[in-house]
Amino acid sequence: MANELPDLGSYTDNIISTAEEDRISKQILYQVNQSPSVIHDVEIDDYLASLGNNLLMNTSISNRHIEFFILNDSTINAFAMLGGVVGVHTGLFLAANSESELASVLAHEISHITQKHLPRIIASQQRDSYKTALGMALAILISRSNPQLASGAMQAASASAAQNTLDFTRAHEKEADREGIKLLDRAGFDVRGSINFFKTMQKSSQFSDGAAPAFLRTHPITSDRISDIEDRLKDFPYRQRVDSDNFYYVKGKLRAFLEEKSSIINLLKENIKNKSYLNESGEHFALAYAYYRNNQIKETRQEINFLQKLKPANPMLLNLDATLLIKEGKLNEATDLYQKSLSMFPTYRAFVYGLADHYIGFKQSPMAINLLEKYLSIYPRDPNLYELMAKAHAKLGNILLQNESLAEAFYYRYNLREAISLMDLAVRSKDGNFYQKSRVETRLKELQREEMLFKKALN
Ligand SMILES: [Zn+2]
Repeated sequence: MANELPDLGSYTDNIISTAEEDRISKQILYQVNQSPSVIHDVEIDDYLASLGNNLLMNTSISNRHIEFFILNDSTINAFAMLGGVVGVHTGLFLAANSESELASVLAHEISHITQKHLPRIIASQQRDSYKTALGMALAILISRSNPQLASGAMQAASASAAQNTLDFTRAHEKEADREGIKLLDRAGFDVRGSINFFKTMQKSSQFSDGAAPAFLRTHPITSDRISDIEDRLKDFPYRQRVDSDNFYYVKGKLRAFLEEKSSIINLLKENIKNKSYLNESGEHFALAYAYYRNNQIKETRQEINFLQKLKPANPMLLNLDATLLIKEGKLNEATDLYQKSLSMFPTYRAFVYGLADHYIGFKQSPMAINLLEKYLSIYPRDPNLYELMAKAHAKLGNILLQNESLAEAFYYRYNLREAISLMDLAVRSKDGNFYQKSRVETRLKELQREEMLFKKALN
């Protein structure tokens, strides 16, 4: 029983320095923000981040930040990259039947990061750490998130070579499984979610024209691995866990937006009629969004009213309700609902975005600016808040402030070059007071210095 962990070979912890990993992370996140396959939806992103952070809090690297994002891809896959970035395919999210199942995959990916598997692979190959790591991380991301970009023969070849060299070993997989189970347990999830999900994935591979889901290929599930997990699960007591409504609501929103409009409406109606669903309110929520997307205002309202009786104070429901009120032309009611919702859920960003945008559209840009300033002190790295701020300043004709906010939006989307050119425009603006002018000048110098350090690191 002693020495259970497989020998993964010696490696030096500092093969990639923190600063280098930070730069890799920024490059990857730049690509993530550019990719048309990445889903940018604050409610879905925040849900995934809160699930991931709940797990992360229970690791030895709880002070570290991991960025989670969701890719529009129907294959069942998730992957961890250098720089602490974890991607989850929509196909995997939709295949998960419980929150614990979804969490089991996140826990596995987080464990690849906590156990430093990627730096170890690079160390074991004695490569020129930084440049190779960066190139590999980007090649993988490009090939996964945007296959047509990697379609050139050279690019495809290098991407697949990078893929092969960065595939985890069997020992890595077992370690990530074991650490993942411990993590699931510590965070209060049902550890059996992991084995249930493996079984779900195996089942789905039988139905998808014989090909194994991608997750099974990059994280091959051997019978050895399954029995190892089952063996370990014996140590954990049975635990029943009630899934959050938002797990089902996020799934519902994804289904409503990813499937073909009229067929998803028919399917959901049929499911509701036959009571064939995992979660009743989740199915109605999906139908509400499907109607909304199809511009069926009256039907959306009916579903919202039904859900309000079932689950009155869900933030995702309140957000859809307020969005619909605007479509119904009930502008004051929408303002009231956003304000009331924010007092109930003061950190829920979808309300902030919605209300700020509503103020701007309603010729109340100064109100929007007040709101956005308040929330920028809570979320100082949120590019969407800066983008809305730029929009509000544009309405008021504040050129310097508009360019400054837009520059920050690009900066927090990791597009340093665009951030610099916009901050330069802010500096050259004819308006703005002395204090604002010196602020943008200082910031421009900071950004230029960061770019210089970045270029130096690449040479
Ligand atoms: Zn794995």
